[in-house]
Amino acid sequence: MSARTLDGKALGQRVLQALAPRIARLSQQGITVKLRVLRVGDDPASKVYVGAKLRACQAIGIDGGDIELPAQITPGAIFEQISMLNRDRSVHGILVQLPLPRGFDPHLIAMQLEPTKDVDGFHAVNLGRLLQGRARFIPCTAAGVIRLLDDAGVELRGQNAVVIGRSEIAGKPVALLLTERDATVTVCHSKTRDLAAYTRNADVLVVAAGRAGLIDGSMVKPGAAVIDVGVNRTDAGALVGDVDQVSVAMRAGFLTPVPGGVGPMTVAMLMENTVRAAELQCLDENVQ
Ligand code: NAP
Repeated sequence: MSARTLDGKALGQRVLQALAPRIARLSQQGITVKLRVLRVGDDPASKVYVGAKLRACQAIGIDGGDIELPAQITPGAIFEQISMLNRDRSVHGILVQLPLPRGFDPHLIAMQLEPTKDVDGFHAVNLGRLLQGRARFIPCTAAGVIRLLDDAGVELRGQNAVVIGRSEIAGKPVALLLTERDATVTVCHSKTRDLAAYTRNADVLVVAAGRAGLIDGSMVKPGAAVIDVGVNRTDAGALVGDVDQVSVAMRAGFLTPVPGGVGPMTVAMLMENTVRAAELQCLDENVQ
């Protein structure tokens, strides 16, 4: 038996299409949704990711743009840029593309964002709200993981969920969201002993370690839903996840491909958060 592929590209397109009436409603009130991305330095992977975000903006009528800042910039000058965007009422969403060059503190930079414009959801206020179960902006990758599982009809309640990775952008928010959905969640990381003992017991396995080939079929429970968040480049230049797709597809019930799984969902969730930010700021709805 081969796992059902969870097609993030197709679902991402459907998410974008569903935003059209919301964008049109804002437009009828003279509001063009606007996102600004700050990119510090010239990390080539960041350029690719930002390009995908801006193309999605263009496809659905969001005014997307990036601001490139030199790697030698001072933190103070970044704060000033953010402060200008915070004050600009025509800008609804701001994000600072990660990773930042060495020496910059991403927490300190995220704290400069106006929380209602923080569409990545990394400001401490937004992460705190997530912890409280009343998120305003769910970090995009984590939101995409849950949306993929929901769209496939994967039961979460009472299921054993194992999350590999505990970063703030992927593992931790995924673990919080799965807990909120009544899964029994185990978080594994680089110090976990006998990883396979955990993964073999997982009905839902989310892998966000950034280690190609970390999970093979022998480590997966038959029928499990496996979400591969990892993005790694092989020596030959190919993009692969953390999961060995061939052996895992033979055992899992559901599996996301790389590319074409979580990646496009991350972009789609960013678009959803950006539209929500514009609604919160302009339509005076659901503001808490
Ligand atoms: P990160 O900050 O480097 O965190 C990696 C996590 O994996 C850490 O918690 C680390 O444990 C754990 N880990 C590393 N090696 C491990 C091992 N051998 N066994 C178990 N756990 C291990 O990375 P990240 O930002 O969360 O990203 C993770 C991966 O997802 C990367 O490949 C990244 O490119 C990808 N990603 C993809 C998307 C997307 O949209 N598709 C979005 C975000 C990230 P410790 O905490 O103990 O160090």
